[in-house]
This record gives sequence, structure tokens and C-alpha cells, in this order.
Amino acid sequence: MRKKERALAFANALEKLYPDAICSLEYKDPFQLLCAVQLSAQCTDARVNLTTPALFAAYPDAKAMASAPLEEVERLIKPCGFYHNKAKNLIKCAEQLLEDYNGAVPDSMEELLKLAGVGRKTANLILGDVYKKGGMVIDTHAKRILYRMGLTTKTDPTQVEMETTPLIPTNMQSDFCHRLVLFGRDICTARKAYCEKCPATDFCPKKNPKKA
Ligand code: SF4
Repeated sequence: MRKKERALAFANALEKLYPDAICSLEYKDPFQLLCAVQLSAQCTDARVNLTTPALFAAYPDAKAMASAPLEEVERLIKPCGFYHNKAKNLIKCAEQLLEDYNGAVPDSMEELLKLAGVGRKTANLILGDVYKKGGMVIDTHAKRILYRMGLTTKTDPTQVEMETTPLIPTNMQSDFCHRLVLFGRDICTARKAYCEKCPATDFCPKKNPKKA
């Protein structure tokens, strides 16, 4: 099976397994998603979801966040870890949104990458989930599973993104990446691949080397 066919078969198998896959971060608008994704670095989505209600109650939009006292944002987001840097970035990012984008979240990779604390993973998530433009969100689960599935030979997230973006149709990329997170927690986990429970064994080269 060719790589592109395998990628599509895998995406379809995951869609059957997790038909309702959505972003596990809770948010009400693009600004809140942008903040939540930044907080999720080196932190679980569950912990972020416990932290953001108080943060967004105090600072619900770019205007409020841009004028927030640093120590107060640090206090509110402390459970998410790396809170000095994350708080600094949230405030700086909000200032940039206010000054350069009238408080809105931009809709291009180029503009998103200009924002404090925003890397390609965050930008792709915003482009896919908010603007429906597609985007491969390469987190630790995606990196591991795409490698095991033989869809990338790389380990650097940006290189994995470049290598796998052409393999998955644009309109499927966002949901596919959300499903990779669930699949990575349940079945193809970091500690062990539970191949006996996997719907992709027929075309996974790790499980079936002759089919690669
Ligand atoms: S067959 Fe095994 S290694 Fe391959 S994707 Fe499924 S769980 Fe992971």
C-alpha cells in the first residue's frame, strides 16, 4: 500500500473509531482557544480546562488581557506550569492582537507566528479549528503515531508536519489530529502499542512490516 493510501485508510479508520473527535480544550472564542493552547504546552488539557474558567472570567478578551497585571495572570495560571513565561506571553500576545489586529485572532500562518508564544502547533490548531483551513497539529502523540505508522521518517515536529501535510486531505487534517490524541492515549500509547485493539493493523508497517 502506498503511503498516501495508507494515510487515508488510517484517517478513515480513526474516524470510525472516534466519530466525534473534537479539541479537548474548552473555549468560547478564538482568543480563548489561542490562550488555552499556549497554556497546554507541557501540561494536560484537563488541567488547562480547570484553570481557564477563572482566567477568562477575569480577562475574557484581548483588551482585558493586554492590561492584566503580570503577577495576577501568573497566579491564575500557575497550575499549568512554566507560568512566568506563559503569563508574559499571554499578555504580550494580547497586546499584539490589540495593536495589530483590532483584537481579533489572525487567520494565516505567517501572521499567527508573529504572536508571542505562538509556534506552528498552536497556529495549525487555530487555522484548522477556527478557520477551517486545515493544519497538521504535531504534538507528542501525533509525532509518535505517524512515525510508527510509517507516514514520516522524521522526529522534528516541523519536519513531521511538512512530510505528512500532503498525505491527509486538508478538510480532514484538524479532526485527524484530534483523533490522534485520543488514539495515542488509548491504544498506540507512548509506553506500549496495544496493537490487538487497533483498527489499523492491516496497514501499519510496525505491525505488518511486509505491507509497508
Ligand atoms: S498497529 Fe500497533 S503500532 Fe500500528 S498504529 Fe496500531 S497500535 Fe500503533
